[in-house]
Amino acid sequence: MSQGLLITGGPLWAGSGSYWPVGAVAAVDGVITYAGPAEGAPKPPQAEVVHAGGGLIMPGLVNAHCHGAMVLFRGLADDLPLRVWLEEHMFPAEARWVSDEMVELCSRLAAAEMLLSGTTTVGDSYFCLNGAAKAYASAGIRAALYHGVIDFPAPGVPDPADNLSTARRFLERWQEHSPLLTPGVFAHSTYTCSKDTLKGVAELAQEMGCLWHTHLAETSDEVDNSVKANGVSPVAYLEGLGLLERLDTAVHCVWLQPGEPELLARREVAVAACPGSNSKLGSGWAHVPELLDAGVKVGLGTDGAASNNNLDLFGEIGLAARLAKVKTKDPAALPAEAAIDLALSGGAACLGLDGVVGRLAPGYACDAVVMDLTAPRLNPCFEAPSHLVYAATGGQVRHVVVNGRQVVRERALLTMDLGEVMAKVRELAAKLGGPV
Ligand SMILES: [Zn+2]
Repeated sequence: MSQGLLITGGPLWAGSGSYWPVGAVAAVDGVITYAGPAEGAPKPPQAEVVHAGGGLIMPGLVNAHCHGAMVLFRGLADDLPLRVWLEEHMFPAEARWVSDEMVELCSRLAAAEMLLSGTTTVGDSYFCLNGAAKAYASAGIRAALYHGVIDFPAPGVPDPADNLSTARRFLERWQEHSPLLTPGVFAHSTYTCSKDTLKGVAELAQEMGCLWHTHLAETSDEVDNSVKANGVSPVAYLEGLGLLERLDTAVHCVWLQPGEPELLARREVAVAACPGSNSKLGSGWAHVPELLDAGVKVGLGTDGAASNNNLDLFGEIGLAARLAKVKTKDPAALPAEAAIDLALSGGAACLGLDGVVGRLAPGYACDAVVMDLTAPRLNPCFEAPSHLVYAATGGQVRHVVVNGRQVVRERALLTMDLGEVMAKVRELAAKLGGPV
């Protein structure tokens, strides 16, 4: 029997300039059948009704790049440059603590944090991802999961010679599992993956019909080292290998050389910008208006909580808008609608989910959020996009629906015992020497 859902009782901002003062969204079996004014909205038979209570109905946000399980390392090593942070703190902590069980537990916490702050889709690139797949499936969040590939011993892949076969097994296991899970591959970077490994990832992705992502041009050191080792920038290196046109999404792209935004556009590579993580690590920030002007599709990622240190995508949207204005000295750079669109259609493009998520319109998946407009920081409200970019945080998220199923009601998660999950994560964190 089909499952109906109706969300109504508040203003509807459906994405891309669509707004109704009193709106409604109807869905059958997770797919939107109607989005528009509440008056005359069809109610699917036996539909469950989500009452917005005057709250703003909007599309769920898309986090284009995250390492969910790294919530365990939140606040473990702050105020360090990327190389020291990564090589002296994260890689050793991951080697010691990351396992299928740890990833499953910590990805539950990541899913909770994201759902409760309005993210309904996440692109997660990590290791031991079987645990993340289980956690996200049971949390009810939509996830694109990119299995990590790297040329040194990694969690779940003690012998780097097995990195591609491990990723292949992950793809085979989860490819047909659920409409909410989309598996892919993640080549860690051009400085941790050899030429052959990068080619192997591209070939595996092509063979399996999935997407692949990589960190690219994150720091100026990465670019300098690439020039020393390969004679060219990381982007030019991939282009020279014939891999840029096969790459789906490049993460970071903070240090692009002249002409590289246009090259990424020509090769149809989307960019997942991570302004919170990049700025905290002192790496810089991706020049989003320049990328958009060149025709690149740009999404926003939180990156992992170890470098952010939270997974609230509203923070990334506001930061991206502000940094664009700082860089250009132009307050009109990346205006509100364009900024929030990064976390909607931009994220969808990064994850291969165009036409599926990022809007509330017929044919799209019913992934929706209701924001509490009674919150002091959202009063009064003249323009919804302005509030969503410059005033809102995930703390004003009241209800969340993913694929037509309500997973957050009145700020409470319906899909897990969050208290128990947090207690177990704290127990594990205590073993790391962190606070209980
Ligand atoms: Zn990352």
